[in-house]
Amino acid sequence: MINTHWHGDHTGGNAEFADTAAILAHSNVRKRLMMGGKTTFIEFPPVTGKALPVVTFEQGLSLWWNGEEIRAIHPGIGHTDGDSVIWFMKSNVVHMGDDYFASAFPFVDLGSGGSVVKLIASLDVILGQIPADAKVIPGHGPVTDVAGLRKYRRMLDEVVATVKKARAAGNTVEQMQKEKILAPWDEWGKGFIKADIFIATVAEDLAKK
Ligand SMILES: [Zn+2]
Repeated sequence: MINTHWHGDHTGGNAEFADTAAILAHSNVRKRLMMGGKTTFIEFPPVTGKALPVVTFEQGLSLWWNGEEIRAIHPGIGHTDGDSVIWFMKSNVVHMGDDYFASAFPFVDLGSGGSVVKLIASLDVILGQIPADAKVIPGHGPVTDVAGLRKYRRMLDEVVATVKKARAAGNTVEQMQKEKILAPWDEWGKGFIKADIFIATVAEDLAKK
């Protein structure tokens, strides 16, 4: 079993599988599970024992199962600092973990080493490798395709540019929220990350540069 990142909604079942499956993940998943932590939305207690991954990697690895190569790829910083994308090469299916929220602003966990700006670069790493006709599974939202993933990447790029411009003009986060600078991307704000939260996240991320 592969954990795409450490958040409890993607690792909470680990203990149930540990007796029959080896748990694999990026090394930062094991590290952060052991520490536990609080995101903006929920607190995850430290994880111990058999619920922890027993095989960890930095860049990625390949599994040769069911007559195909299954690649786990760490494309770089994104949703957290320990995300993996899982590519079932023969099946032509790509699981993006939470680097991809289909049709919604993503939750990007800055407190777990994530970055919206770096997420865009990580998406490019994946888009540069997968076939144009691959099926793409997001961490949240409906199954889509490469066109859907590209559209999401373009939205992130445009939103970052918009917030960057507002910051350069001296606007505070409150002003950006009041002026609804993300109004052109309204359709993306119907998930659990609303436009105001996403403005704050992108601005905080940009302030770190
Ligand atoms: Zn997550």
